[in-house]
Amino acid sequence: MKKKEEVKPAKRRKNRELYLFGGLFTALFAALFVYLSVYVASNHEELFNNSYNSRQRVLAAQNRRGSIYSADGETLACTVSEDGTEVRQYPFGSVFAHVVGYTAQGKSGLEELENYALSNSDIPQKERFENEQNGRKNPGNDVYSTLDTGVQQAAYDALGAYRGAIVATEVETGRIVAMVSKPDFDPNQISADWEKISQDTENAVLLNRVTQGLYPPGSTFKIVTALAYLRQFPDTWQDYSYQCTGVFQSGENRITCFHGSVHGQVDLQTSFAKSCNCSFANLGLMLPREEFGDTIDSLLFHEKLPIELPYRQSGADIGADSPDADVIQTAIGQGKTQMTPMHLNLITMAIANEGVLMKPYLVDRVENAYGEAMDTNSPQEYGQLLSREEAAVLTSLMESVVTEGTGRQLQGRSYTAAGKTGSAEFSDDTDESHAWFTGFAPAQDPKIAVTVVVESIGSGGDYAVPLARRVFDAYFEEN
Ligand SMILES: [Zn+2]
Repeated sequence: MKKKEEVKPAKRRKNRELYLFGGLFTALFAALFVYLSVYVASNHEELFNNSYNSRQRVLAAQNRRGSIYSADGETLACTVSEDGTEVRQYPFGSVFAHVVGYTAQGKSGLEELENYALSNSDIPQKERFENEQNGRKNPGNDVYSTLDTGVQQAAYDALGAYRGAIVATEVETGRIVAMVSKPDFDPNQISADWEKISQDTENAVLLNRVTQGLYPPGSTFKIVTALAYLRQFPDTWQDYSYQCTGVFQSGENRITCFHGSVHGQVDLQTSFAKSCNCSFANLGLMLPREEFGDTIDSLLFHEKLPIELPYRQSGADIGADSPDADVIQTAIGQGKTQMTPMHLNLITMAIANEGVLMKPYLVDRVENAYGEAMDTNSPQEYGQLLSREEAAVLTSLMESVVTEGTGRQLQGRSYTAAGKTGSAEFSDDTDESHAWFTGFAPAQDPKIAVTVVVESIGSGGDYAVPLARRVFDAYFEEN
């Protein structure tokens, strides 16, 4: 788990030793001693995970690697002995492939993130001694994840044979309940299949698209543009009006609404609900560029994200010198704008939680083989990304997407949902688009945020919304 938490017990132990020797050493030497012990403790995990460190091999000989469990107590990874040989098993096969990961041919996912906990054994010293005398291995520590098998399976089935990604997070805690990326692989066969899948650059099977897939966000980015508009016109945004003829022309720059739609007279809410490109190009140009850039930055672009898994940095750039063409393209999430599904989910989580982003996390706790908690994670606030009032207005805009706009396929459920669709074009040569949805439910008391992207398939309303619905359905049937 986090290095910070590793420091505490080690420091306490050292402090005890320090106390015993206190009468013998000078204060200066003591200070140096504490400094060194903290330094070693805080770098312990890093040293340990160094692949050249033979300590890993020693531990593997002493301890049997611990198991990884779902939040609902199912085994996601375990080590069993087959004819004297240890084999790592993944009972759910490819369902948790990217998020649980593998521990052969290098490591990935939780297997990599929690390698330190899984490799170590925190059973009592006496028992370790007995095991050593009898040539037995110590049982390693177990990792209890935040993942829910029901929601994960629903997301996995919903994505089916499509390529893309789905992530579901609890907005009040930051717990990640589902994370699916496709195409996938069977971690039980990782060594046998390694040559084939590691060399398949076209399909990038090993890439966790949730955190490492960069896509143009398309109209889901109108959330960001709308927020910039609310900040610029806090008292008059409700007076916004635009006449959509299906085409927006400004100098050389020309934008059309999706599939030739003509939206007529629209205010901000209707522009958002029906995803009117022309209206958003228009209001993008009404924004002072530096302020538009500031709003983009306030949503964690150009900074480190609170994500434990390896991720790629999203890109959206507007500054004082940006030409009209860039502003128009960015306002509708096209051009050079690129995002990962996880980053979009973070923004959605913050909107759903009155502006406050909870730090997403994958591990609930680490236990020793006797079920004693060695380390427990609790929800942590990451920060306030937008004000409570801004979050409330964006929530109402996102509700209208479901009640009267492109998210209508989320109507008629036991819960009410709010969100934004996107149909992101990624090539000048084809009409193909990536289908997006990001949103949360219940709209007025949000519990879960779901973000979906399906590659080169069509509109978000047709292809991403029904997948999100299956994930919401699975979550609310269980909770
Ligand atoms: Zn329009």
